[in-house]
Amino acid sequence: MVRRILACSLVALIACKGDEPPAADAASSTSGPTDPTTTNATAGSSAGNDTGGPDPDSDSGGSPSECAESPEAMADCVDAAAYQNDLEFIAELRTPGSPHWQAVQDLCADRLTELGYEVTLFEYATGVNVLGTRAGTDPDAPMVLLGAHYDHIPGCMGADDNATGVAASLEAARVLAQGQFEHPITIACWDEEEDGLVGSEAFANAAAEQGIGIEVYFNFDMIGYASDEPNSQSIPPGFDLVFPEQIAQVEANEFRGDFLLVTADDFAAEPQQAFIAHADRVGLPTISLTLTESQKNNELFGDLRRSDHAPFWATDVAAVFLTDSGEFRNDRYHCIGGEDTLDSLAPAFSEGVTRATVGAMAETAGLLE
Ligand SMILES: [Zn+2]
Repeated sequence: MVRRILACSLVALIACKGDEPPAADAASSTSGPTDPTTTNATAGSSAGNDTGGPDPDSDSGGSPSECAESPEAMADCVDAAAYQNDLEFIAELRTPGSPHWQAVQDLCADRLTELGYEVTLFEYATGVNVLGTRAGTDPDAPMVLLGAHYDHIPGCMGADDNATGVAASLEAARVLAQGQFEHPITIACWDEEEDGLVGSEAFANAAAEQGIGIEVYFNFDMIGYASDEPNSQSIPPGFDLVFPEQIAQVEANEFRGDFLLVTADDFAAEPQQAFIAHADRVGLPTISLTLTESQKNNELFGDLRRSDHAPFWATDVAAVFLTDSGEFRNDRYHCIGGEDTLDSLAPAFSEGVTRATVGAMAETAGLLE
């Protein structure tokens, strides 16, 4: 998750004084060097898995035919061990341009290729996104997109931010590859999120310019940290004024950080509801926020726009942001209050997130049962 862009965010509704200035390296989500006309290169021919990355664990989680029976069956085919295996590999230093950044990029490309996705390296001015697509049965149907950023800041392992999101995307890709859908399914590993949402913005703008249809974008950013301790969840200043019902829910639960925050724009209200129904079924607590057209691109809501869904909202593509809420719960965010390492994470929480996402995507993409 990118650092806070604004000095005051929603607190501006009351007063801005006393808030810290924006971080020197924070970047506006609406800027950044992007050239949507830059090259796209196919990576489908990349030779094997030479990255030292983990092998996909295709033996577990039920047979393909059983998994494809229903969206619920697909959700139940998520394999916690496969997710954990990838998570452990990804959660090392991976600053853009570093060897492990390259290894994780290769893992995305090689894994998606092995799973039968058509893989594209989306190269833009300063970085590389990896996108894998499985065609749907309806050639005109817009894609259902799931993604997570694979870059991280220097000097921090970024286990929660965002090794969890990349590992969960790859596990969702594995399960979803067992179904046939009306819509295409695309899985993305975004680059340079921490530099100001640069990779996802390059793609979102290119998609808008080229008229590439996107039904909805599901974004994972920090989905691994949870706590059932009272007062383990804090709230951005001003949120109680705008979202009184949701904040009352958190308060009634003694500010426990045990829920997934599910934020959608109102174009994405239906997939958001589908997600919440699947989350309920698998026992994952959620708090949901739905932003209006005027709220979603408003700087006052900057704390809800600090990840790769924001460029999609900016181009009026429906998007759902799935997060543990970052530093409002996890004080190891960007290694500020300790190392962001695997030992601090709650595997059952991200497993629930992955299951609910697979169910919601299978439903939204029109699983052919
Ligand atoms: Zn971050």
